[in-house]
Amino acid sequence: MGEVMPAVFFGHGNPMNAIQSNTYTESWARFAESIPRPKAILTISAHWYVSETAVSGSAFPETIHDFYGFPRELFEVTWPALGSPELAERVQKLLQPLGVRFDAHRGLDHGTWAVLCHVFPDADIPVVQLSIDERKPAEFHYELGKLLQPLRDEGVLIVGSGNIVHNLRAYAWDNEKIAPFDWALRFESAARKLMLEGKDRELADYSSMGEDARLSVPSPDHYLPLLYILGLRREHEQVSFPVEGIEGGALSMLSVCIGCGDKK
Ligand code: ZN
Repeated sequence: MGEVMPAVFFGHGNPMNAIQSNTYTESWARFAESIPRPKAILTISAHWYVSETAVSGSAFPETIHDFYGFPRELFEVTWPALGSPELAERVQKLLQPLGVRFDAHRGLDHGTWAVLCHVFPDADIPVVQLSIDERKPAEFHYELGKLLQPLRDEGVLIVGSGNIVHNLRAYAWDNEKIAPFDWALRFESAARKLMLEGKDRELADYSSMGEDARLSVPSPDHYLPLLYILGLRREHEQVSFPVEGIEGGALSMLSVCIGCGDKK
């Protein structure tokens, strides 16, 4: 048997990270050095949040520039990783009886490439994306993550990409270094504590965590990718936080790794 691949959630933050070099992007690059080299990557990104569960099956996925109002330089970025129709079919099988639609045309959104272009700059590992079904409750996404477990034994790195705290109305666009809002700090630290204690069900039930949760997770899209990653945790596996920080007061850059610190 090969090594068990860790699973990781990245706080992706501002799309500009794709073309910048900062403490976050440097940590993302270091992450690649700390894990076995994956055969393929499956990502679950906040930016493919639609009314179905689908999987990207294109052999040559395009780089999707799914944002507005950023410099042209960012729109010119391409990250030409190949796809993997085989992995897409494997994901379909693992999630049965749920009928996962095979999308032969979907490319990679910036939740995927703006981070992975730093983790794997050579774009030489095939990447497949799984969409998030916006109609389903949080618990559904956690359970789907569990079903993807076998991929970790098959050399597949599973990546969630979102932000545990993501409130763009409160975000200080003109001052990213502003001190975090109290509610953002409190919610992030409550979530960290629950993760360390393995209280996944409470994390899936985040909406009952009160006002701090309401402000930190005003819509589920950036939070749900975390639940897929938590669902991949095996008994006695460690949770670690390879990247930390809160930008613009209201955007948590926290990364969460399952099985990063575990030595055999
Ligand atoms: Zn985003």
